Amino acid sequence: MHTHYHDIVQLIDQIDPIQYGKTRNYLNGAVTRLSPYISRGIISTKQVAEIVLDKGYSPREIDGFLKELAWRDYFQLVWQELKSNINKDVKQIQPGVNNYQVPLSIISAETGIEAIDNGILSLYETGYMHNHLRMYVASISCNIAQCHWLQPAKWMYYHLLDADWASNALSWQWVAASFSQKKYFANQENINKYCNTNQRHTFLDQAYELLPNMAIPEALKATQVFDLTCTLPSCDELNIQNALPVYIYNFYNLDPKWDEHEEANRILLLEPEHFKDYPVGDKTIQFVLDLSKNIKNCKVYVGSFESLHQQYASQNFHFKEHPLNGHFKGTQHERDWLFENIKGYFPSFFSFWKQAEKQLKKRT
Ligand SMILES: Cc1cc2nc3c(=O)[nH]c(=O)nc-3n(C[C@H](O)[C@H](O)[C@H](O)COP(=O)(O)OP(=O)(O)OC[C@H]3O[C@@H](n4cnc5c(N)ncnc54)[C@H](O)[C@@H]3O)c2cc1C
Repeated sequence: MHTHYHDIVQLIDQIDPIQYGKTRNYLNGAVTRLSPYISRGIISTKQVAEIVLDKGYSPREIDGFLKELAWRDYFQLVWQELKSNINKDVKQIQPGVNNYQVPLSIISAETGIEAIDNGILSLYETGYMHNHLRMYVASISCNIAQCHWLQPAKWMYYHLLDADWASNALSWQWVAASFSQKKYFANQENINKYCNTNQRHTFLDQAYELLPNMAIPEALKATQVFDLTCTLPSCDELNIQNALPVYIYNFYNLDPKWDEHEEANRILLLEPEHFKDYPVGDKTIQFVLDLSKNIKNCKVYVGSFESLHQQYASQNFHFKEHPLNGHFKGTQHERDWLFENIKGYFPSFFSFWKQAEKQLKKRT
């Protein structure tokens, strides 16, 4: 995993958006693996799209790629509007819920489906999982094991370097049909096709029409509640300079280019309350700390915004807009969006994308 800004930006240069469009659903397809950097706010969807479009591709020929970037912004807009209500079933109650836990065989990577088990082990090791695998895992957990989406989503979020609560919670809800009209199912044949496996006789080796009414398979019956603990580092000595403003960075904003030429105190704020609600594992915390090294003289503060603000009440605080920053005080800066003029809640990605296409056409 890269942690230096320049290496990360070079990854954008290596994207093949045409090949991406053709192969992204395959485990070995030309996906970008940029999500950990976009989620942590070190680069933005806008920056990625601009670098790729500046190479001379027309928006139409790389439509598949732009659409995926747009999904992230779409979910962010939904979060901005609905705030903590995305933690509940958004459009309708998830149909067919049997329990509020996580299948034990998902946690222990022992579902018996090779591609899934290997994908989970790899998630534990690398902090990354391919989108299609995420969909399979969510479908098995919510639609086959009949778990409510929230706990399995928190389990996955905990292990991802790209943990982004909007993309996460809303994707789980999309699969489980509380943010879509229909549950998403995949059978073994589909998994074999996209994961390059050749497995038969698993609980998913069924015709599609049988999956929605299937009894919970033996392998998924045992479920578990768990406590996800998050260990935060200790505070640095802040050495605040009173004459200078305070720039606040956090889990979702580690942008080293943000007003980089301003003289300022720069603080990575890790709020224990935030990580109590949205716990992540040690690898993700270490990733955040490593990325923060790109920010000049950035110091780590572990505590609430209020306590920091109280200590330095006379300073001017700066932060970037984010749904979880509602309690921050000071000067709020806009973050980057792919489509700057498209704001607000869209009931479906399709309605959002229709607006986006109009803007893209202007570029062609
Ligand atoms: C159940 C589930 C949970 C998910 N949880 C997260 C999460 O916590 N954090 C997260 O960043 N993404 C999440 N996603 C979305 C998606 O799986 C990842 O963004 C993508 O797999 C990241 O890999 P990549 O960078 O190689 O993506 P690529 O396929 O290369 O896509 C390029 C970029 O487009 C955006 N993108 C692509 N697909 C999606 C998508 N379906 N939704 C939103 N943005 C997308 C990402 O920013 C990604 O980096 C989840 C999807 C599902 C189905």
